[in-house]
Amino acid sequence: MKIGIIGAGIAGLTTANMLRDQADVVVFDKSRGIGGRMSTRYAGAFEFDHGAQYFTISDPDFHRLIDRISERGAAKPWRSRGLYLREGTLEADTGRPRWVGAPRMNQLPKALAEDLDIRTAQRVTKIAGERGAYHLLFEGGESAGPFDYVICTTPAPQAAALLSPKSALQATLGAVKMHACFALMVGFPKTGSTFAPRWDTLRVSNLPVSWIALNNAKPERDEDHFALVIHGSPEWSDKNTQADRSTLQDILLDCASALCGVDLSKASHIALHRWLYAYADHGVGSDALLEPESGVILAGDWCVGGRVEGAFVSGRAAAQMVLAEFK
Ligand code: FAD
Repeated sequence: MKIGIIGAGIAGLTTANMLRDQADVVVFDKSRGIGGRMSTRYAGAFEFDHGAQYFTISDPDFHRLIDRISERGAAKPWRSRGLYLREGTLEADTGRPRWVGAPRMNQLPKALAEDLDIRTAQRVTKIAGERGAYHLLFEGGESAGPFDYVICTTPAPQAAALLSPKSALQATLGAVKMHACFALMVGFPKTGSTFAPRWDTLRVSNLPVSWIALNNAKPERDEDHFALVIHGSPEWSDKNTQADRSTLQDILLDCASALCGVDLSKASHIALHRWLYAYADHGVGSDALLEPESGVILAGDWCVGGRVEGAFVSGRAAAQMVLAEFK
């Protein structure tokens, strides 16, 4: 049995792990690294978890997985000082306990990826063939297959592009709204800086910036440098997906500088990243989807309304669909 999985984010890696003992599983990802939106950006002395900031745990299987991974030190609770600036008033930003990968966010996908056959820098452009004999075609002309099953775990708009325009699932996929997020990464040495925030994370409403995190305040991070991850709000990011990057960077820098009380434009490292499909705002009523005509299975956080735990839940559902057919 051969299974091809598109996407090496949490959903795809979860599916691959659950199927590895039953089949030859190969995971393909268009990026150079793994982890998808749960990745880490390296820049000289600085490291930024520029996608997922932390994750929460409620599903019992996810709990067991994180227990296993944290036994090896690759996931840790983050006892962060969270504040919420809501319409001019600062309040505690409460919620479920926060967890992070350690010493960086991508340790969680890396732990899931161990001993899997993962092929990076492989952008799938087409799912060809038919039930039981699929072939994946890549940008550049190569192909892989045949596969008995194909599971696509890309964000919904990218999955829609891989299915037939006539697929019965196009309407469902088209209704999934995924918001963009501009992530500004700002780094500077602690020595000589007057920056002394009372928070590790600051959530903000009604401004271009919606979130600032001190990445360096997470467990096992570099203690000599500030590494700030500043997220543009979904509304502002959606409106500006095609706007001039340097203008957007300046707007986020001005806004974050005012919130932090220091001039961040003088920082030694400043970089902007655009996540075009960052968050889904609602699910599709099913943890994973089966495309009726082709038999391709679709999964990803967007099936269940987003978040790291949602990606795990969806990846598990996709694997269960295949395992149910093995019986
Ligand atoms: P992804 O991680 O997007 O994985 C899909 C993979 O498919 C990617 O690696 C991509 O490269 C690959 N791919 C796409 N198209 C192709 C193709 N054609 N061929 C091959 N490969 C392809 N969640 C939380 O729980 N807490 C948070 O604090 C949080 N903050 C976030 C902040 C930001 C800025 C962002 C972007 C996300 C955040 N999230 C957060 C959401 C969380 O990161 C996601 O829910 C989760 O990582 C999604 O996992 P996934 O496997 O479903 O998708």
